[in-house]
Amino acid sequence: MAPEQHHMLHRGIGMTSQRTRERLIQRLYEEGISNAKVLEVIRRTPRHLFVDEALAHRAYEDTALPIGNNQTISQPYMVARMSELLLEAGPLDKVMEIGTGSGYQTAILSQLVERVFSVERIKVLQDRAKERLVELNLRNVVFRWGDGWEGWPALAPYNGIIVTAVATEVPQALLDQLAPGGRLVIPVGSGEVQQLMLIIREEQGFSRRVLGSVRFVPLLNGPLA
Ligand code: SAH
Repeated sequence: MAPEQHHMLHRGIGMTSQRTRERLIQRLYEEGISNAKVLEVIRRTPRHLFVDEALAHRAYEDTALPIGNNQTISQPYMVARMSELLLEAGPLDKVMEIGTGSGYQTAILSQLVERVFSVERIKVLQDRAKERLVELNLRNVVFRWGDGWEGWPALAPYNGIIVTAVATEVPQALLDQLAPGGRLVIPVGSGEVQQLMLIIREEQGFSRRVLGSVRFVPLLNGPLA
């Protein structure tokens, strides 16, 4: 068999099988994910294409995995939970994502909202994520190589913003770029002490909800080639 053929088969069977995926969905449901649309999108999105081939057999475990450059693909539960929180009050048109990483959360979001604007500081990760989304024919995403602390002011405001790295404090630029009624889902803290927060732009000021302890890689400063 040609090496390519073997490669394709490897990606289609075993631990990436439909049954393995179903088990993940069942688990997310049991852990409290109740948005059927979110569960359906996770069910049909091939997470094994977002990790290195050597890790593909673990792609449907509910765990973060390394993606190179000291970064990780987020845990499926966290992807589901954050997506659900964003969508809790109804459908969203424009969503900005900070921390594209592998592009997995991007791919999930792109199937749940109208348009996704995704910012990443590491160029090589962004390039790979772009390729994967094209491969999956997910076309409603635009990418920016830049510093997530600054958001993407030129295209603001956004109805939703999701940050997939932990910030030492809530970036002011992201608050500024939220539309009225807009929702920001962001882990805040450092080291072992991190809380997932939901911040909503109200008519007057912002409301904040603390949703519990989480574990993310840090939101760093500045773009990187
Ligand atoms: N959602 C991604 C998570 C990747 S980990 C996934 O599931 O694959 C967090 C990502 O945030 C990393 O890719 C990291 O490079 C990126 N990041 C960290 N600080 C950033 C910043 N200031 N601006 C943009 N991206 C940042």
